[in-house]
Amino acid sequence: QLPTIYAITPTYSRPVQKAELTRLANTFRQVAQLHWILVEDAAARSELVSRFLARAGLPSTHLHVPTPRRYKRPGLPRATEQRNAGLAWLRQRHGNQRAQPGVLFFADDDNTYSLELFQEMRTTRKVSVWPVGLVGGRRYERPLVENGKVVGWYTGWRADRPFAIDMAGFAVSLQVILSNPKAVFKRRGSQPGMQESDFLKQITTVEELEPKASNCTKVLVWHTRTEKVNLANEPKYRLDTVRIEV
Ligand code: UDP
Ligand code: MN
Repeated sequence: QLPTIYAITPTYSRPVQKAELTRLANTFRQVAQLHWILVEDAAARSELVSRFLARAGLPSTHLHVPTPRRYKRPGLPRATEQRNAGLAWLRQRHGNQRAQPGVLFFADDDNTYSLELFQEMRTTRKVSVWPVGLVGGRRYERPLVENGKVVGWYTGWRADRPFAIDMAGFAVSLQVILSNPKAVFKRRGSQPGMQESDFLKQITTVEELEPKASNCTKVLVWHTRTEKVNLANEPKYRLDTVRIEV
């Protein structure tokens, strides 16, 4: 039996949401033994996402938690509450039993994931890491590996980060999540770009990290971002005769 991969995806309503989720589901559907934890940044589960998930053909859990308005500001980290809701669900679900083999990873809805990435993260014993493409103002960032151990970071942005790695650059075993029940993403005192470090500090050390993707020399995930759509020509009157979900 393969370890289950739990993918926690925060998502919020916007014109491209369904397109992003469609692309993500098309990837996840090709991964064996994957459980998708989709967490809406909203006060309630939306109909669009509920319908979408029902037809996605994936084992999934649909959660929601709104980001408090005071945290919806440029320069503040995104999706803190949603990732924590995913963590809380995992801990609750596995609370009373010995951990089943499992691996957790944070899958933003706009990134691009190769299928090889899932093979790599599946063998995570505690916390594994790998390069991420198109991030930090560079073609890629990556953990620097010597003799099979992470010894530093190739990055062009805030090299002082204890773990200079994007959210898409690591996975954590379920066992580690359960044995560190207090490890969460923090709002207080958290700066953008430090969420990963703040979280990883609570559960591991740099020395302990397991390098994946050929000693962190292959890019298997890309921090792609979707262009804002142009809706300048949306009608204000003479609307379409049918209501269509996009
Ligand atoms: N997100 C969210 N609420 C927001 C903004 C973003 O739930 O108000 C989600 C988004 O759907 C994505 C993740 O949080 O899955 C990271 O957001 P984004 O991709 O905008 O961040 P960046 O690409 O700048 O790291
Ligand atoms: Mn993104």
